[in-house]
Amino acid sequence: MVNLMKENIFNKIAKKKVNIDYIYKDKYITVFNDINPKAPIHIIIIPNIYIKNLNYVNKKNIIYINKMFLYIPIITKKKNINKSGYRIIINCNKDSGQEIKYLHLHILGGCLLI
Ligand code: AMP
Repeated sequence: MVNLMKENIFNKIAKKKVNIDYIYKDKYITVFNDINPKAPIHIIIIPNIYIKNLNYVNKKNIIYINKMFLYIPIITKKKNINKSGYRIIINCNKDSGQEIKYLHLHILGGCLLI
């Protein structure tokens, strides 16, 4: 049975069902620009499998989290924010303001973040 909760926008993006500018995609992760950027550079990295949030990280899916983090120094260097600096945000559940119920990592940079 299809779990409708899984069919959210990031799940569709991970399956390349959404027509957006993909920055990068491989077996494990998908990378794209945030649709509503909160900084000059606002990139989202998602795993290619459904993980609701950090509470669901485990030994089986940790490879996807590894790949997400391994891509940070690559994309921040490409975007030339590795030296100026950037912020990583991962929201989890309602008190954090997690809007999309699909684990994702924000990279914010390109200005002084307050
Ligand atoms: P969060 O509050 O951590 O769940 O962040 C969700 C982020 O996803 C927000 O910054 C949204 O602007 C972004 N977002 C929502 N829909 C899309 C989309 N279709 N493409 C790119 N980013 C999106």
